[in-house]
Amino acid sequence: MLDADFFRRWMTTAAASVDREAERLTALDSPIGDADHGTNLHRGFTAVASALETEAPQTPGAVLVLAGRQLISKVGGASGPLYGTLLRRTGKALGDAGEVSEEQLAAALREGVDAVMALGGAAPGDKTMIDALVPAVDALGDGFAAARAAAEEGAVATTPLQARKGRASYLGERSIGHQDPGATSSALLVAALADTAE
Ligand code: ADP
Ligand code: MG
Ligand code: MG
Repeated sequence: MLDADFFRRWMTTAAASVDREAERLTALDSPIGDADHGTNLHRGFTAVASALETEAPQTPGAVLVLAGRQLISKVGGASGPLYGTLLRRTGKALGDAGEVSEEQLAAALREGVDAVMALGGAAPGDKTMIDALVPAVDALGDGFAAARAAAEEGAVATTPLQARKGRASYLGERSIGHQDPGATSSALLVAALADTAE
């Protein structure tokens, strides 16, 4: 079973990973975006880490709802509301249980990813974070390591795609040949989850 401390560690591990990888995320956002993805997520996850310290939420759901709210309110870019919705909706789906099973987490994340698709209108293959998140949720039934590998593969597989959502879509065919920054950061989030579970 996964308790509030597990979810806190997931979020702080994600914050540390975003801190380490911020420059790479911003570099990926340079040819097909506005070169701010790493900066955006760094600002957001720094706020998540400090809010978790000051507010000390006591359930898995409360940890993710708090994290999602921070991302929505602190990140100006498209990724803030999208990641914020992912975590907030996943947290709400977990309810107020003190511990949740891996199966419950998988089902809740599925709701979270569906909410991101509803908000942003992206489907798999549109070269967005969805291309890492959907395969990860699909693989989660086989364990955290399988989800991590699926997210990483999904992120790499965005390179030959033409973007149909977000800023990169303005480039049309010129978006082809670059890995999507949001799919890359989604793979980091899933990797942080797998690291936390190890
Ligand atoms: P912005 O584009 O506003 O500068 P970021 O650079 O932080 O925001 O985030 C860009 C990432 O957000 C993209 O790489 C993509 O993965 C994701 N994204 C953008 N629009 C959408 C959308 N409609 N649905 C899902 N993901 C999206
Ligand atoms: Mg950007
Ligand atoms: Mg921007």
